[in-house]
Amino acid sequence: MPERNQLKPGPLKPGVVTGDDYRTLVQACQDGGYALPAVNVVGTNTVNAVLEAAAKNRSDVIVQLSNGGARFFAGEGMKDELQARILGAVSAARHVHLLAEQYGVCVILHTDHAAKELIPWVEGMIAHGEAHFRQTGKPLFSSHMLDLSEESLEDNLAECARVLRRMAPLGMSLEIELGVTGGEEDGVGSEDLERADNTRLYTQPEDVLRAYEVLAPIGHFSVAASFGNVHGVYAPGNVKLRPEILGASQELVSERHGGGKKPLPLVFHGGSGSEKEKIAQAVGFGVFKMNIDTDTQFAFAEAIGRFVLENEAAFRHQIHPETGKPHKKLYDPRKWLRIGELGLVQRLDEAFADLGSAGKSLAAG
Ligand SMILES: [Zn+2]
Repeated sequence: MPERNQLKPGPLKPGVVTGDDYRTLVQACQDGGYALPAVNVVGTNTVNAVLEAAAKNRSDVIVQLSNGGARFFAGEGMKDELQARILGAVSAARHVHLLAEQYGVCVILHTDHAAKELIPWVEGMIAHGEAHFRQTGKPLFSSHMLDLSEESLEDNLAECARVLRRMAPLGMSLEIELGVTGGEEDGVGSEDLERADNTRLYTQPEDVLRAYEVLAPIGHFSVAASFGNVHGVYAPGNVKLRPEILGASQELVSERHGGGKKPLPLVFHGGSGSEKEKIAQAVGFGVFKMNIDTDTQFAFAEAIGRFVLENEAAFRHQIHPETGKPHKKLYDPRKWLRIGELGLVQRLDEAFADLGSAGKSLAAG
């Protein structure tokens, strides 16, 4: 992988970034002390809303799919589960490749948690990435995540190394997980909150060092480290974030292998509902990506829910039963889906501000 000082400091071509451009963007976030929101999408409405929000805020952004989101993208009616998860992700990626440049910002395309049983999903997507690379010289996705945190450290890293060896020649990066993110996401990483004091919820710096030593010689990677973060939003007091754990990992790797104060690109899972102060601290310790899903889901649903409640008759009768007035303009999906999109855009305005990425897009133009 190129040393940090060999990377060109932008501007970059707008659109999906991969390879050296991806690394340049990650480095710019870490050097500039800001992070990008990674927003889970499930269809073109959410993809387009994320691109719209990024363009509006002049921020680069990360579009990501969980395996369930990818499955939904393909259509819940599709029979072959694994194929639906692969093709849904590919379909979303092609949609983003086609449109992102028009929005004038840089977009990182990524897929979320893949535990052991989902490795065939990741390998299926990489196969499509290889085909795309042969045609265009670029992979389909910027990066994928493997979450083998349920396995032993050595098994986790051995499998990550195997997959990264296949991805690195395409210029792709791998996100790995060390320690366990609490809460639940698509039934993966389920963890009782009563176990929130479990040491597994806090990544050990020695494990991060070991990961660096195994993976850095192979290719670019990032680490989803656990510092008390959980998926989902819970009542206050249940979650104790300790971002200083991230600083300890950076220090240990830097001490042994150099690479400046923040040698590792870190990822913050479970950003929804987190205290702003802890977000800022985590970003200061080298977090370049913060996942946000629960909050954007709610923003989309809440906006539509309010609209439906305010216009209840239009969602029960095509024509108002007393006045005879047609309701077509209200129940047209473009009306209420657009309201959901705008709810999501508004929530992302807040995320770009929290993460300090607004106005910092590296895209030329
Ligand atoms: Zn996560």
